[in-house]
Amino acid sequence: MPELPEKASAFIDWYLAVVEAADLTDKRYPVKGMNVWTPYGFLARRRLDRVMEEEIEATGSRPVEFPALIPETEFQKEREHIKGFDAQVYWVTRGGSTPLDVPLVLRPTSETAMYPIFKLWIRSHQDLPLNVYQIVNTFRYETKTTRPFIRVREIHFFEEHTCQRDEPTATERVQSNLGAFSKMAERFGLPYLAVRRPDWDKFPGAFYTVALDIPLGSARTLQIGSIHHYRENFSRPYGIQYEAPDGSAQYAHQTTFGLSERLLGAIVAVHGDEKGVAFPSDIAPYQVVVVPVPSAKGADPTPYAREAVADLQKAGLRVHMDERSDRPGAKYYYWETRGVPLRLDVGPREAAARQLSAVNRLGVRVSLPRDGLVESVRGALAEYDAGLREKAQAAFVAAFSRAERVEELTGSSTVRLIGWCGSETCGHAIEKAIDGALLGTLEGPPPIDLGAPPACVVCSAPSGPSWAAAGRPL
Ligand SMILES: [Zn+2]
Repeated sequence: MPELPEKASAFIDWYLAVVEAADLTDKRYPVKGMNVWTPYGFLARRRLDRVMEEEIEATGSRPVEFPALIPETEFQKEREHIKGFDAQVYWVTRGGSTPLDVPLVLRPTSETAMYPIFKLWIRSHQDLPLNVYQIVNTFRYETKTTRPFIRVREIHFFEEHTCQRDEPTATERVQSNLGAFSKMAERFGLPYLAVRRPDWDKFPGAFYTVALDIPLGSARTLQIGSIHHYRENFSRPYGIQYEAPDGSAQYAHQTTFGLSERLLGAIVAVHGDEKGVAFPSDIAPYQVVVVPVPSAKGADPTPYAREAVADLQKAGLRVHMDERSDRPGAKYYYWETRGVPLRLDVGPREAAARQLSAVNRLGVRVSLPRDGLVESVRGALAEYDAGLREKAQAAFVAAFSRAERVEELTGSSTVRLIGWCGSETCGHAIEKAIDGALLGTLEGPPPIDLGAPPACVVCSAPSGPSWAAAGRPL
């Protein structure tokens, strides 16, 4: 196996090599930006989906699934939205050889698929809130360089769409989504920034957008999700109205919350190292791999290992036993590249002593007794997750620094936390200086303790109550 490029100095090369080495995707499919999910990658994706389903349903959202094709007539109802997506949509214009009366759009996102139906579902205030989500594939004709999981043309997409009574309840839903995401991020082991995007960078048709960004070193950032408040921007053109308790007709206020397979890219990027991927145990396709290590000197340890595997599986742990005939060293390397949290090696000596030799993906070794194995494996996984989270948190904190003057942004190797007056002119000056983007103003305190934000780095006018951040989005 070739060595992986160095993560710090050649991040993109490293990333591309690591997703390949870990066998998460096959990018040889003959449509650019549409990759094949391999069995191992799919298992990881399914774990991500489960976490999203569990955390969003805990906040009262329910699953739905809408069709992938949207009539052009519905797609064109919200003007800003069309402008934002027009260049990115795939069109279906023929059924067989017959031209369609109304051309169909392959969904780039599902507002325009769902909202004509929401109009039918919602009659009275008792039908609200409507909180539904789906996890489906969406399609966008990306013109920038495609990258596995990070920028693709067929996107595995989580999208929650809600209808609320008014602006304050819609704002509450945005906050509830932020709460749900913080629980997801905890399980992914991903520290992140929640940032309110500047107006010129919000979602097409949104009143405002809160993006979820992670730093990836050298001032790079990756948006891994977003939450939008639409006010009545979609409910008006789509006629989503309800009868209020006083009998008046009111438009719903809507929100959406979007996540995608970028989360998998983020997990690879944040936790991976020169040896490969490192999965948090909640996401890992296999939490434990057991490797029997036969030796000429003792009895075959395989039956003993199989028994241990059966016990762990019965307890609900995702365990894989590697009985291939390869050398143990080759297997260790193989599973390390794929980011399995915990490996258990079982030779004749371990079998005789009724033990298992454990080594986690961070390189920590410990001997586990066969008795009470389920509990000690759970303990070892929890310890590993804590170590992984600590490492990610240290890198997260180191990825930021404050800047007092706009000149300091040029060539910056960290995401800069700054004061910003809120004006678009100053915003663009900031973007020019950092050769990237003004990510927006932070929702909540900054990741490093900085006190109150200083004056605008460009014009020295007082900034708002929140710090702003500037970086170079991937
Ligand atoms: Zn300013």
